[in-house]
Amino acid sequence: MYTLIDGKATAAQIHSELSMEVQNRLSKGLRPPHLAAVLVGHDGASQTYVNNKILACERVGFQSTLIRKESTVTESELLELVASLNQDKDLDGFIVQLPLPDHINPEKINEAIDPAKDVDGFHAINLGRMLLNLPGYLPATPAGIIELLRRYNIETEGKNCVILGRSHIVGSPLSVLMARSARPGNCTVTLCHSKTQHLKEHIQRADILIAALGKPGFVQGEWVKEGAVVIDVGTTRVPDASRPSGYKLMGDVDFETAAPRCSAITPVPGGVGPMTISMLLWNTLDSANKRHYGG
Ligand code: NAP
Repeated sequence: MYTLIDGKATAAQIHSELSMEVQNRLSKGLRPPHLAAVLVGHDGASQTYVNNKILACERVGFQSTLIRKESTVTESELLELVASLNQDKDLDGFIVQLPLPDHINPEKINEAIDPAKDVDGFHAINLGRMLLNLPGYLPATPAGIIELLRRYNIETEGKNCVILGRSHIVGSPLSVLMARSARPGNCTVTLCHSKTQHLKEHIQRADILIAALGKPGFVQGEWVKEGAVVIDVGTTRVPDASRPSGYKLMGDVDFETAAPRCSAITPVPGGVGPMTISMLLWNTLDSANKRHYGG
């Protein structure tokens, strides 16, 4: 029987810990942590992600600010907005929701964000600090996965960890975190991508399999090693006429066939997704505390 790694329940637990931290700050006469989200345009999925972040802030007692811009906003206007948010002393962190319209270079925007307010952990300074094992903001999704492994006491030391997908926001940073000398960590990591040969053989050797491809149901149960731990990051909207929304969310792993072979597995939805927001909030709290206490 496998353990279901319940990201929703874990995130709820973390949210109650965050609420206590907010109360702690208030009792010392400090203001609540403050997160801002910049949303450009009207992409449905982006609006949902940003709304969920704002709602999560409200739930734990953070202050939040939603800044909306039309998709006609120019790159220089957006850079000006970033510069003003960098300067705003009442703001602990902010995110610029991706994707951005084609006429805006996302790297340029990302690099303009003050690393001390980069609570998404995407800035080169924070990624570099992660590589050197120095304090900084970890990217939220990889940090959420590490937190799930920690809270579920999953042994990672000496294990073969196979990661599918090498994006800057998920697969690549995870490969660093899973390999580093830490707990969780100390894995032997294989980072796979679209040019990887014999992908199935790599998957079959994985004690810990982390799938972040964006290809619903790609990993077949029979490819999964008996007793493996499977973390499914994939979150793809697949049409489903039976639901009021008209879609359902699907992971990269075929859960029905994979789960019986696993020692532990995350569901989609309710696995990695809720943890991403929790880690964003932790980073924001951390920034607020550093701003007050220094560090
Ligand atoms: P991405 O930037 O599109 O990267 C996908 C990666 O998968 C790339 O490295 C690509 O290889 C690789 N890939 C694609 N097809 C492959 C194949 N057939 N065999 C081997 N590798 C293949 O995706 P992402 O932003 O990392 O997101 C991945 C998934 O995670 C998506 O479903 C996304 O929605 C989800 N996600 C969820 C959360 C959350 O909070 N739950 C957060 C972020 C992302 P190349 O590099 O060679 O192109």
